[in-house]
Amino acid sequence: DSLRPKYSKILLKLSGEALAGEHGYGIDPKVIHGIADEVREVVELGVQVALVIGGGNIFRGLAASSAGMDRASADYMGMLATVMNSLALQDALEKVGVITRVQSAIEMREIAEPYIRRRAVRHLEKGRVVIFAAGTGNPYFTTDTAASLRAMEIGAEVILKATKVDGVFNADPAKDASAVKFDRLSYLDVLQRGLQVMDATATSLCMDNQLPILVFNLTHPGNIKKAVMGEKIGTLVMG
Ligand code: UDP
Repeated sequence: DSLRPKYSKILLKLSGEALAGEHGYGIDPKVIHGIADEVREVVELGVQVALVIGGGNIFRGLAASSAGMDRASADYMGMLATVMNSLALQDALEKVGVITRVQSAIEMREIAEPYIRRRAVRHLEKGRVVIFAAGTGNPYFTTDTAASLRAMEIGAEVILKATKVDGVFNADPAKDASAVKFDRLSYLDVLQRGLQVMDATATSLCMDNQLPILVFNLTHPGNIKKAVMGEKIGTLVMG
């Protein structure tokens, strides 16, 4: 039945930069509103949606630490950046009528629930979108790893990894016009060829637990829904 979604529970991973729009920094209200609208469409299909958002539009731990800052402190700042993005996304979603909860891996009682797995699962069952903020709560990790970990914990069927290009290519499509997109890849292909999907920690976590990753282009409106419906877009990474 092609009218029914392929997945009933997804984890959507957005990079922080996805919120920045043309400015490359901060949060663009138009862009975040567009994303919220697309998420709403998917929620209305009855799909359970969890979200993890990066922080690269505000602060990146690795960049700050190569400029001399203590790595762990810089990473904690990066995690705080993801909390800001999560609150912005929560606001945008609620403006379009989607009920949400933010759960933070670093406790911040006044603005977010603490991360409690069983509670997150319950919110999802009730049709609420759960936004997982503050990454894994640990320095030296990334929000891709947080996305993989949370997806596993809540029993998501797939990670939808949003990017600025149509999927995974054998070369950078922005620089090389002859770059070819892969429709499907194995986890080992990704790891061995060093392809830009997610970092190795996140990829191997998905491999060990057989969690598929669909890499797709967020800049084409409607793609989140297409991905959820199982249309042939992007690159699917699995066994
Ligand atoms: N971060 C971290 N632990 C985590 C998740 C994130 O230390 O579990 C920090 C890290 O410094 C990272 C920053 O938060 O640079 C922002 O996350 P990320 O770079 O993954 O965001 P994205 O590139 O997806 O915007």
